[in-house]
Amino acid sequence: MNLDLIQQAAAHIRTAQRTVAFTGAGISVESGIPPFRGPDGLWSKYDPSHLDIRYFSAHPAEAWEVIRDIFYKYFGQSQPNAAHLALAEMEQMGQLDVVITQNIDNLHQAAGNQDVIEFHGNSHRLSCTACDQSHPFTAEIIATLPPRCTVCGAVLKPDFVFFGEPIPALAQRRAMAETTRADVWLVIGTTGEVYPAALLPVEAKRNGKTIIEVNVRPSELTGQITDLFLQGRATEVMSALVAQLRDGA
Ligand code: ZN
Repeated sequence: MNLDLIQQAAAHIRTAQRTVAFTGAGISVESGIPPFRGPDGLWSKYDPSHLDIRYFSAHPAEAWEVIRDIFYKYFGQSQPNAAHLALAEMEQMGQLDVVITQNIDNLHQAAGNQDVIEFHGNSHRLSCTACDQSHPFTAEIIATLPPRCTVCGAVLKPDFVFFGEPIPALAQRRAMAETTRADVWLVIGTTGEVYPAALLPVEAKRNGKTIIEVNVRPSELTGQITDLFLQGRATEVMSALVAQLRDGA
């Protein structure tokens, strides 16, 4: 890890009027959550068609078997890591305004970030397919599949974005607004391959914003839109960055 680059990144963040963190699967790998894609990804173990909205509507109980399995093996077990905690500390220091995440693991909220735009929803909530009532994910509620709304009895769906579903309108609108609003985009653990999320930092760059990228390996973004590339594991880089911001405060 290059300390000079960490110092440069800290300087950008300190002088920014507004900073956003834009996160993807790479930030949660060290919390034990595999990415969906890639050789060891969840899609090598599960059939992604089970998370297609048309399949879910036709076969909710079968889809829920898969969802319950994924939740208990991964999303329900994991804890925030040093990178999530660094972002929460940055928010507390007034050096980070908002997190936009593509992850559905709830780890930014668990770490303590107050303003998290959930671009793909959240696996820890269930929403009613009929009355929009929200329910927490509990063992009781999924004891019988498919789980049903305690208010109206309709089938509950996990509150994350399925294949074939649009991005939640408010999240989309708020995230797009940051592409003209925030001066600095701190892009962590995302390779710029999942659309439409990948368009956000590209749009920010087009608007003249500074892009700081944190990734283990160069990505689609590096050399295209990235101004500062901090190569390394998210926990290492973010711990160093937050320490730098702490010292300079
Ligand atoms: Zn309902």
